[in-house]
Amino acid sequence: MPLDIVTVPCLSDNYAFLVHSPQTGETALVDAPEAAPIRRVLTDRGWTLSRILITHHHSDHVDAVEPLREEFNAQVVGATADAERLPRLDLAVAEGDEFEFSGHTVRVLDVSGHTVGHIAFHIPDGKVVFTADSLMALGCGRLFEGSAEQMWTSLSKLAALPPETVVCSGHEYTSANARFALTVEPDNPDLKARAAAIEDARANGRPTVPSTLAEEMATNPFLRANLPGVKALMGMAGSSDATVFAEIRRRKDSF
Ligand code: ZN
Ligand code: FE
Repeated sequence: MPLDIVTVPCLSDNYAFLVHSPQTGETALVDAPEAAPIRRVLTDRGWTLSRILITHHHSDHVDAVEPLREEFNAQVVGATADAERLPRLDLAVAEGDEFEFSGHTVRVLDVSGHTVGHIAFHIPDGKVVFTADSLMALGCGRLFEGSAEQMWTSLSKLAALPPETVVCSGHEYTSANARFALTVEPDNPDLKARAAAIEDARANGRPTVPSTLAEEMATNPFLRANLPGVKALMGMAGSSDATVFAEIRRRKDSF
């Protein structure tokens, strides 16, 4: 039976996600930016939280962990590598680990770069991955702690997932990301179409997250740093994938 995924807008531009199994009635939360909007969805649907999955230590992803843990007696899951910066973990996980949620396998990917110790949660049979501030809709997280090389490795792992995978990322940054992406690939027809759809969605107050990996592969410049056409447009024909990625990231930082 498929999982229900609900996108919960929090703070000014964060997204949390509720993952609910209609079969077992269990619900997991991915990231906890703000308690009130999450509690509202849970109340409306008559759900209670059994798990809280944390992607990384930034306060806009963990601030509501403690109140929600207390309220629902939820089990908190996060990266072993980051345990000393995260709220107390009931289950500490690392790259390659798997755990079970309501009969579904959840795989842990290390996607360091934005922070060191950032993880993503992939549910293969649910065809969904929770990427927070690693791979984002038409973008990727800023490199606060890790190197460009590290982020490129992380994005390459995500790029290898099945194209139909739904990408649940952490922020509504997509309009600005689209404007930047068009400076890298002004003539990419898929990107032009997606940018127009994003503008329309935002003008009507609709979220642009989640997306699919197939869409990201076709339009996200940070996933396309390995393509000869993109390297040429960057004036970097023959440079390594990670070097081109680093330059795209650098240009975005000052965009
Ligand atoms: Zn962050
Ligand atoms: Fe964030």
